[in-house]
Amino acid sequence: VNRQSKIVILGGGESGVGTAILAKQTGFEVFVSDFGKIKEKYKQVLINNEIEWEEEGHSEENILLADVVMKSPGIPDKAPIVQKLLEKGVKVISEIEFAAKYTDATIVGITGSNGKTTTASLVYEILKNGELNVALGGNIGKSFAEQVSELRYENFVLELSSFQLDGIESFAPHIAILTNLSPDHLDRYDYKYENYIASKFRIAMNQTSQDYFIYDADDVEIDKWLSKNTIKSRLLPFSIKKELSQGAFKKNNEIVINIDNNKFNMPISEIAMQGEHNVKNAMAATTVATLLKIRKETIRRSLEGFSGVEHRLEKVLKINNVLYINDSKATNVNATFYALDSMENPAIWIVGGVDKGNNYSELLPLVNEKVKAIICLGVDNKKIIEAFGNIVDTIMETTSMEVAVRTAYKLAERNNTVLLSPACASFDLFENYEDRGRQFKNAVRNL
Ligand code: ADP
Repeated sequence: VNRQSKIVILGGGESGVGTAILAKQTGFEVFVSDFGKIKEKYKQVLINNEIEWEEEGHSEENILLADVVMKSPGIPDKAPIVQKLLEKGVKVISEIEFAAKYTDATIVGITGSNGKTTTASLVYEILKNGELNVALGGNIGKSFAEQVSELRYENFVLELSSFQLDGIESFAPHIAILTNLSPDHLDRYDYKYENYIASKFRIAMNQTSQDYFIYDADDVEIDKWLSKNTIKSRLLPFSIKKELSQGAFKKNNEIVINIDNNKFNMPISEIAMQGEHNVKNAMAATTVATLLKIRKETIRRSLEGFSGVEHRLEKVLKINNVLYINDSKATNVNATFYALDSMENPAIWIVGGVDKGNNYSELLPLVNEKVKAIICLGVDNKKIIEAFGNIVDTIMETTSMEVAVRTAYKLAERNNTVLLSPACASFDLFENYEDRGRQFKNAVRNL
């Protein structure tokens, strides 16, 4: 009899605890180790499942005995414990790699720099409306691993970060989406954009000719990579700029899907989500739905009904004919680009936070055209003021959300829009982007 294989799980959060449950169920000896504190709710789950764990430090000798290690996405490769494991030749994988081995479900994997959550949520919505037995996981909500352990889903829609893709070996989604590429998280990629791009394309590396790869054909970086590398799965591009013979594109203000003999079209004005980026997200999601043979009527109804996800160009309130929009999840310049692009009325723009090496120059024409006032909400606003100080009527600084919102209220005239779209991370003044978005919404409701 073989001895029981031992899996060590680094990180006791959603991903780690989900993996622990699945590993226990599938017969592993399981040990969870967290360098920080494990949340109470996760401790309870570990205790209930009789899984061993430790917190506030790694017991090295024990961890190095592992046959395989699952590393949570938040832990960098540079962490000393990971380095030691790699030196010893222990296999270090991600939750996605581990859990996918225990399901035969159809997997839709979605990655990209922006639009993952929105696209994944929309795909999930359409498949659910199409009465498929489907779960949503990955970076959203309940972990993929835990949902695999429930043994009840025939389809998974997974939002996949580059960190989760770094830890795969054989994982291959049946349908992959690459929404777009713009620089992000470069601190984890030796500050090399090409390393980050390579990481995103790992989503396709194990695909076969039976699989599909859906991508933004207007994205120059994606285009460049595809011209130098090959992908074995069938390529299905989407574009809002050019008509395509196969894939999804825009024609006469409609989105058109054309895959072999499967066709779908729908006026863009009937899609509930606003903004050009969301037309792309809708095209990607509709391509998936078409491949999975969801009825056209169901797709149409879903696109009419799905207005987006909280903190992503979320309409909060209209006060005195001024619309307040919460786009707190815009933590990089590219996401904010699309927010500004979608402004139909003069905007008062609340921006700032922790700068991730931002280059604001691509926003200049939009700010020139659409923004009348800027409120900098962050600890360090130097770059924003340098970039835009000369081209708007008003620019001011604060570190208080309440002051920011009240100032915007005072500056706004009828038919203006107040937009929170920070283009920056939130850690200087807020717990996370959700906290920032909620504080914005509360301040707006208190006006
Ligand atoms: P992710 O999960 O990749 O972070 P989200 O769907 O949460 O993406 O959206 C993050 C931010 O990017 C939001 O501000 C949203 O409005 C914007 N966004 C959504 N889809 C796109 C897209 N296709 N291209 C650029 N920005 C997008």
